[in-house]
Amino acid sequence: MNENKVALKEISSVDLQTQGKFRWSQPDRYKSLLSNNKTAIIPQGSALSYVANSFSNDSLTINMKRFDRILFFDTTQKKITVEAGITLNKLYFFLNKYNLFLPIQPGYPGITIGGCIAANIHGKNQYNEGLFENCIEEILLFHPKHGELIISKQQNQEIFDLTIGGFGLTGIIIWAKLRLSLLEENSVNITHEPVDSLYDTATKLQKLSSSYAFLYSWNDLSPNSKYKGRGFIVKGLFTNSPKNKFLLIPEKDLFYPMKFNLFTKQTISIINQIYYFLNSNKTEKVPLYEALFPFVKKRSYYSLFGKTGFWEYQVLIPHNYAEEFCDLFSKLACQNKASISLATCKIFRGSQKYLNFNGEGIVFTFDFLANPSSLELMRQLDKKLSDFNGIINLNKDSRINHETVSLIYPEFELFHKRLRQFDPQRFFQSDFSKRLKL
Ligand SMILES: Cc1cc2nc3c(=O)[nH]c(=O)nc-3n(C[C@H](O)[C@H](O)[C@H](O)COP(=O)(O)OP(=O)(O)OC[C@H]3O[C@@H](n4cnc5c(N)ncnc54)[C@H](O)[C@@H]3O)c2cc1C
Repeated sequence: MNENKVALKEISSVDLQTQGKFRWSQPDRYKSLLSNNKTAIIPQGSALSYVANSFSNDSLTINMKRFDRILFFDTTQKKITVEAGITLNKLYFFLNKYNLFLPIQPGYPGITIGGCIAANIHGKNQYNEGLFENCIEEILLFHPKHGELIISKQQNQEIFDLTIGGFGLTGIIIWAKLRLSLLEENSVNITHEPVDSLYDTATKLQKLSSSYAFLYSWNDLSPNSKYKGRGFIVKGLFTNSPKNKFLLIPEKDLFYPMKFNLFTKQTISIINQIYYFLNSNKTEKVPLYEALFPFVKKRSYYSLFGKTGFWEYQVLIPHNYAEEFCDLFSKLACQNKASISLATCKIFRGSQKYLNFNGEGIVFTFDFLANPSSLELMRQLDKKLSDFNGIINLNKDSRINHETVSLIYPEFELFHKRLRQFDPQRFFQSDFSKRLKL
């Protein structure tokens, strides 16, 4: 497409709750990117977010995928500078030749570095590695009124803090200098430890948190399991396996659109039972690529929801409330006869800032079929969250509104205020920012 052309493009959030045709452009030159001085624009990476944070009815989307070059690389210092539109996939293949990798990555290789920064994503063991911000040395940010700004912990720190996990609302990230880790071994030894319930998972994960490079759980919360959450903890340690080195999948469009609807209350129970029996107690050695990006092999999961999509509810609950939360969740799920296709847990630590999904405790993730009883259950959970000092991941939940967020995110108003101080005209807006009245 011509760099200056604006097209009407069909875009949807991954959960399919927001869909439509939106004004979209894909510049490929700095000249056109940096001359953008219209109000109401929003940057986009691969649009692989569950929520509509890179498009809106009133904004022009600036897709960054053409800016995907490696600008600087230093193997000895283990540093790389990349344009923000580069995918994790492209970066992985490049770094693999030098036995280096990015230690914190989300579960899908099509995601861009710009998207990782703007959502301050978490990887497979947030407890050990923290959030994506820990990989960032500095960023070049462009804002029509402020021009090009180098931002880091040392330079323009206030804007840096607003930009990391700021959902593209401070400007366009042009490039980022990232810290890499040495890849000593190229495979991951994965073991599955059975658990009886959601709370059993939470307590066991806490004990295991510092011993594994990869650590999360899979729990069955389907109606047949009586919403108890039996399942297994997935534990991964690096190991060597030379033959795996060449099992990498080449770059291509890795995400398939949804075609048919297979998930119903009944099928969820059957699918989960089969999945549990196939995987519990299993031990396997998988290539690092597969361990980092488990959704590559499971991308048909999204197809199974059909055209109505799903809702994801991801909450961080402090350890001292974990038991109460698990009891409440099982009770409400039973009462509402919830349809939960996927439930997982992870351990987190750190301090919460602005809109970042961070803090100390257990992260529970639930994927619900998009139906009225799921909505009712989430509404009931929202009401209890502030009693537990819990927060919801704003990057996963398409329905959360301004009232709930301002109640549960202590620095929401501060983010709102500082964003306006930096950008009184509010150049950067998305469906997400409008829903949250940002
Ligand atoms: C299968 C799958 C697995 C996932 N696993 C995880 C996980 O393990 N952990 C996790 O935390 N998340 C996970 N996610 C969520 C995903 O990592 C984030 O939503 C990420 O932001 C998507 O990146 P993207 O390149 O698709 O960006 P988009 O979805 O296009 O945009 C996301 C946000 O980043 C902003 N943005 C993008 N590029 C720029 C730029 N150059 N400058 C400024 N702002 C920009 C956009 O405005 C938007 O607000 C997963 C998503 C999927 C589909």
